[in-house]
Amino acid sequence: MYKHNIRCRICKGEKLAKFLDFGNQPLANSFLKSPNDFKEEKFYPLAVYFCHSCNLAQLLDVVSKEEMFSDYIYFTSGMPKISNHFRLYAEDVMSRFLKAGDLVVEIASNDGILLKFFQDAGFRTLGVDPAANVVKIADKLGVQTVVDFFSEQIGKQIARTEGKAKAILANNVVAHIDDHHDLAKGVAALLAEDGVFVLEAPYLVDMFENLTYDTVYHEHLSFLAIRPLKILFEKFGLEIFEVQVNEVQGRSLRVFTGHKGRHGINPSVQKYVDLELSLGLDKVKSYQNLAERVVAQKQQLIKLLSDLVKSGKKIAGYGAPAKGNTMLNYCNIGTDILDYTLEDLPVKQNLFTPGMHIPTVDSVYAHAHLPDYFLMLAWNYEKPILEKEQAYMQNGGKFIIPVEGIRVI
Ligand SMILES: [Zn+2]
Repeated sequence: MYKHNIRCRICKGEKLAKFLDFGNQPLANSFLKSPNDFKEEKFYPLAVYFCHSCNLAQLLDVVSKEEMFSDYIYFTSGMPKISNHFRLYAEDVMSRFLKAGDLVVEIASNDGILLKFFQDAGFRTLGVDPAANVVKIADKLGVQTVVDFFSEQIGKQIARTEGKAKAILANNVVAHIDDHHDLAKGVAALLAEDGVFVLEAPYLVDMFENLTYDTVYHEHLSFLAIRPLKILFEKFGLEIFEVQVNEVQGRSLRVFTGHKGRHGINPSVQKYVDLELSLGLDKVKSYQNLAERVVAQKQQLIKLLSDLVKSGKKIAGYGAPAKGNTMLNYCNIGTDILDYTLEDLPVKQNLFTPGMHIPTVDSVYAHAHLPDYFLMLAWNYEKPILEKEQAYMQNGGKFIIPVEGIRVI
C-alpha cells in the first residue's frame, strides 16, 4: 500500500534528513461513512525530509496513488472564489501564449472548470485525470478527459494523436506526483517548441512565514520551491522563465516553464531564488527551527482549546479540508473538544473525519447548534467565512485561527 523512497525524487541524492515527524496518520481525504468503518481505518507514516543536495523538502513514505486519487473527493468548482481565480488565470495564459486552434492540456483537470474557460474561448482542450467520479462532471461540461495519471507515456500518446500542446497546465498536482522525472519527461515530450508549462503549487515559503504545517499530508509529496524545481527541469531540457506568487490558497507559486532558450528569463525567477536563500532554505538548520516552532504552536493550540473546554465553552470546527485533518490528528483534537465540524461541500457532509472521527455537518445543523468558538480549519478561506458568519460574531461567537501564531477573533 505504500513504499519508502531512499532517494530524493528530484536529484536522486541519498543524504536526506527528517525534520518533521507526525507519526502514523490516516489519509487526510479518507472520510468515513459510519462508526463501523473506524476499526478498519488505515494509517501510514507521515514525516518530512530535507535533501542536502537539491534542498527539496519531501515525504519519502509514498502511499500508492491508486489508493489516494482514484475516487477523489475534491471538486475544484466546489471551492468558493476559485472560479474567478481560474478565469483570470486562463485569460493571462491565452493572451500571452496562445493563438486560435492551439491545444491546451491540463494535468489533473478535475471537474474541468479551468479547461472550460479555454474551450469557451475557442481553443482545443484535453484533460488528464485519474478520478473517474470527478471526470463524469467534466463530461457534463463537455470537457474531454483521458481517465489516467499523467506520465511520459500519456504525454507521448497525446502528442501523437492530438499534436503538441501549446500550453500544459498543472494546478495543485505536481506536489502530488512521486515520479518527478517521469512528469518532466512527459511535459518535455508533449510541449510545443515555443509552448508553456504552467504549474501552480503551495509555496514552501508559506510554511516558514505562516507556520502552515497542516499542508503536510500524504498527498503532498513535495513542498516546492524554485531552487529544486530549476534543478528538476534543467535535467530534461526545460527552463523556468517566470515565477508569480499568488495569495489564493495561502501563498502559492505559479511557475512558467518552457523548452530551454525559447523564452526570455523574467527577473522574477532570480527574485524568488534570492528570497529562498535569504530564508535559509538551503540549510537543514532552518528546517529544524521550523519543526521547533511547529511543536510550540501545537502545544499552544492544545492549551487554548483545553482551557476553553474546562471553562465550559462549546467548540466546533469550521470546514473539513484535508489540511484540517493533519492539524486535528497531529494535535490530537477529538470529539472531547470539537462537537462537530461544519462543511459546506455536500460530498463531505454527514461523514466522520479521518483519525479523529469528528462528525461533519451542514450549515443548517451548525446554525441550530452554534458553539461559543469555531476552530477555523479552512483558514485559507478566512475572509469569506468571516463575511458569511457576521451574525454569529455579532451575537458573541468567536473564531480561533490556528495559523500565524493563533488568533482569536
Ligand atoms: Zn535532492
